[in-house]
Amino acid sequence: MIAGKSTIKEGSELKDFLIVGAGLYGAVMARELTRKGYSCIVIDKRKNAGGNIRTTVKNGIMLHEYGAHIFHTSDDEVWKYVTDLVAMIPFVHSPVACYKGQFYSLPFNMHTFKALFGCSDPGEAKRIIEAEACAEREKISLPSNLEEQALLTVGRTVYETLIKGYTAKQWGCDPRLLPADIIKRIPVRYTFDEDYFNDKYEGLPDVRSGGYTGLAERLLEGSEVVLETDYLKLRTGKDPATWYTDPGLGLAKKVIYTGAIDEFFEFRYGALSYRSLRFETEELEKDDFQGHAVVNYTDGETPYTRIIEHKHLTLGGSGKKEADGKPFTIITREYPKIFGEGDERYYPVRDKLSMERYNKYVGLAAQCPRIAFGGRLGSYRYLDMDKVIREALNDIKAC
Ligand SMILES: Cc1cc2nc3c(=O)[nH]c(=O)nc-3n(C[C@H](O)[C@H](O)[C@H](O)COP(=O)(O)OP(=O)(O)OC[C@H]3O[C@@H](n4cnc5c(N)ncnc54)[C@H](O)[C@@H]3O)c2cc1C
Repeated sequence: MIAGKSTIKEGSELKDFLIVGAGLYGAVMARELTRKGYSCIVIDKRKNAGGNIRTTVKNGIMLHEYGAHIFHTSDDEVWKYVTDLVAMIPFVHSPVACYKGQFYSLPFNMHTFKALFGCSDPGEAKRIIEAEACAEREKISLPSNLEEQALLTVGRTVYETLIKGYTAKQWGCDPRLLPADIIKRIPVRYTFDEDYFNDKYEGLPDVRSGGYTGLAERLLEGSEVVLETDYLKLRTGKDPATWYTDPGLGLAKKVIYTGAIDEFFEFRYGALSYRSLRFETEELEKDDFQGHAVVNYTDGETPYTRIIEHKHLTLGGSGKKEADGKPFTIITREYPKIFGEGDERYYPVRDKLSMERYNKYVGLAAQCPRIAFGGRLGSYRYLDMDKVIREALNDIKAC
C-alpha cells in the first residue's frame, strides 16, 4: 500500500530516472523502466499515488475520487496490460441525462428519441432529426461555432434539451463562443443500444483488486515512491542555472515530468488555459440515491454537471452495503469551474493562444535533452486512460 508521507533518503544512490507524478502515465513509465533494469524514484505532490484515477474503498463501495473513470479501449495490448495487473469487472457506461426533471438516455439513441419525440421507429426518428437539421441548414451554411455545429448535426430539440446547458456549464461560456470543432462528432444511434462507448473492451478494476489504486500500486512496485513532495519546491533549493540542464536534482540522471509543462518553465510564455472541477462528496443514510452510476444535468440552471453514485460503479451495484446496520450510499456532485490559484488542472482549453504558448514550451523542452514530458499535463491534452497507457508504452521505446 503506497500512502502517506515518506521522505527522500539522505545519501540515496543516484537513480537512473526521477519520475515526477505518480499518476497513470508516471506509474506505467516506472513499471516499464524497472522491467528494463533501470532504477526509478517517483515523487508526487499529492498525499497518495494514482493521480486522477485514484479510488478508495468505503463499506465495500469503490469511491472514484476524481470523477467516474470507466476504462474502455479497442487496443488489445493495452487491455491485456491492464488485465494482467488487476481483475476487471464488466461495466457498460450508459449515463442518463436529466433535463428539468425528465430523464433521457445518453448517448442519443432510440430511448432518447422516444422520450423527446414519442417515436420508437428508427426511420421516423431519423426523419425528425434530419428535418430539424435541414431547417437549420437554411439559416447556417458553414458552422462558425459549437451551437451551429450541433444544430446542423442533431437539430434544435436535442441541442436545446441535452447539449446547450451542459456545454455552457462545462466550458463556462455560451456555446456560440466555442469553436465548432469541439463537437465535430456527436454520436447518434438509431438503436436501443445504451452503451456510451463503441470500444471492444469496457470495464472497471474490481474492488477486490483495490480498484484503480490497486492498479497504480502494482505499476509502482519496484520503484522508490515519495509522496507529498513537490518537484518545483525541491528545485527552489538548487542553483536556477541548472534547473533545465540538470533536472534530476542530484537524485537521478534523467527526468520524466508529468506535471504541467508551463509551470515547469515558470510560465515564461504565459499560462496555458485549463478548466477545473470541484467535487462535492456526500455520504447518505440511504440504500439508493439515484438508481444509476452517472446522471448528467443538462439544463443551464443546475450548477453541477453530473452526480455519480459510486455503489453503481462497484461490481454492478453490489456495493450495496450497510454501514453500522444503516443503509448507506456515497454520491459526488461535479461542479465545473474556472481554473484558479490552488485548483487542479483538469481539462486543457486548447484555444489559439494556449496552443501558441504550448508550442513554444515544446520548443524549450526540445532544448532539455535530460527531461521528457508526458501524460495529460506534460503534453497539454485530454487523454483517456487507455491512450495514456498506449503513449507510455510507445514513449518507453525512446528511453
Ligand atoms: C473528471 C474526469 C473524468 C475522467 N474519466 C475518464 C474515463 O471515464 N475514462 C478514461 O479513460 N479516462 C478518464 N479521464 C482521464 C484520466 O483521468 C487520465 O487519462 C489519467 O488520469 C491521466 O494520467 P496522468 O498520469 O497523465 O495524469 P494525472 O493523473 O494528473 O497524474 C499527474 C500526477 O503528477 C503530479 N504532479 C503534478 N505536478 C507535480 C509536481 N510539481 N511535483 C510532484 N508531483 C506533481 C500530480 O499530483 C498527479 O498525481 C477522466 C479525467 C477527468 C478529469
